[in-house]
Amino acid sequence: MTSGESGILEPGKLWWNWFGEQNFVPRYLATPRTEEDVRQAVLKARSLRLPVRASGRGHSNPPIVATPGVHIDFSRFCEVIDVDLEKRQVTVQPGITVGDLSRYLRTIGMSLNNQGDIDTQSICGAIATGTHGAGITLPCLSAQMVAARIVTADGSFLDMSAEKDGELFRAFRASLGMFGVVVSVTLQAIPSYNIHKRSWNTDTEDCIEGLQQRLTDNRTFWFFWLPQKTSADLFVLPDGIPSTTSRDADICHMRTYNAVPVDDPAPELGPGEEFDHSSVIFPNLYEPNFREMEYAVPFADYEETFAEVRHLFLTQYPDESYPVESRPVKADDSYLSAYAERDGYAIGVSGKPENSTWPLLRDVDAIFERRGGRPHWGKHHFMTPARLEKLYPRYDAFKKIRREIDPDGVFLNDHLRGLFE
Ligand SMILES: Cc1cc2nc3c(=O)[nH]c(=O)nc-3n(C[C@H](O)[C@H](O)[C@H](O)COP(=O)(O)OP(=O)(O)OC[C@H]3O[C@@H](n4cnc5c(N)ncnc54)[C@H](O)[C@@H]3O)c2cc1C
Repeated sequence: MTSGESGILEPGKLWWNWFGEQNFVPRYLATPRTEEDVRQAVLKARSLRLPVRASGRGHSNPPIVATPGVHIDFSRFCEVIDVDLEKRQVTVQPGITVGDLSRYLRTIGMSLNNQGDIDTQSICGAIATGTHGAGITLPCLSAQMVAARIVTADGSFLDMSAEKDGELFRAFRASLGMFGVVVSVTLQAIPSYNIHKRSWNTDTEDCIEGLQQRLTDNRTFWFFWLPQKTSADLFVLPDGIPSTTSRDADICHMRTYNAVPVDDPAPELGPGEEFDHSSVIFPNLYEPNFREMEYAVPFADYEETFAEVRHLFLTQYPDESYPVESRPVKADDSYLSAYAERDGYAIGVSGKPENSTWPLLRDVDAIFERRGGRPHWGKHHFMTPARLEKLYPRYDAFKKIRREIDPDGVFLNDHLRGLFE
């Protein structure tokens, strides 16, 4: 049953993102239960000449949800719609969390190919921003999407798929809700697997020296550089793991994840090792105590870029203590993910959620700009149209498709208009 054309919009409510950094009060709020509710919300917004933006779980840093018009909240639109067991494809409502989807897949003998390091974001938010995990053979979540259904600016449903919609679908993969409001997505899953995880601390020099080998030897290798003794606590990294360093600062917290078929026996576990289903091992715990910026640099530039960031911290910002996270991601065929047609190495830099952090982020941004770094759309960045033009070969093509599908800019807000109109 739908909520009806007139009943779908209620007075807007104050919305905050997870970090407590972004807020807005829209004119109207819609909390849909059905696809028809979503369509009615868009039609009503059009009749009132109001813009529309959707939210998943609000885990992004920049103002990519804010709207003065109609806010469609998808946090209660989160069911599994359909499963194709033969193709291992699952169709879900956009608000389902990565964790709920991953746990559901486990019950039917499947896993997501890869996940990020939390699982409380919505699948649609993760796809729309190019959310990723780590691994040189593992692309971001936008690449796991094979089809989607959206409500466009004229209030009609549009079904798209990678198979039939070529360029349109490539442009849509990481498009921040600018093509329309997503009412379902279909993802490609893979056979269920367990993960054998190892964590240890080591000297930064050892980490970098063995980097290439560790990247090729493991399905997933990633590390957090810890500039200070207190750094690990800020990201709730575990104590008591094995350590090969005698230092307590300027060290690396290392992680490898290797997949084991679910029917294989569990390995014997040593210190710092864990073994469980992928849906259990991937997610970690974070507290909203940080402000993050993350860019992906070309793979070949990673080591020099990391060295510059480390040098900047140690010489110019010796009191900054948040971990710096480095994760490799495989290229995909999207127009606008940070990995669009280019393997990338994501470097995440964080500080306190205070104004005093901006100079550090600005200085790191200057390093990333010189290195051709592309932003994570769900984290802070300092992009301008001129920078995007240089970074994305298909930036102009993206803008053209966006204008064709939403000529009145119904699905833009100020932040996005400045970058993509
Ligand atoms: C603690 C923490 C850990 C994180 N870890 C990682 C990580 O490991 N890897 C990584 O890459 N990122 C990571 N992120 C970033 C996070 O994955 C992204 O910001 C993601 O977009 C958040 O999803 P969300 O559901 O909160 O989306 P939101 O922030 O609510 O929305 C994101 C975008 O999606 C759009 N959107 C959402 N739903 C719809 C819809 N139905 N229709 C149209 N548009 C829609 C929104 O309008 C917005 O533009 C992390 C964030 C946090 C806070």
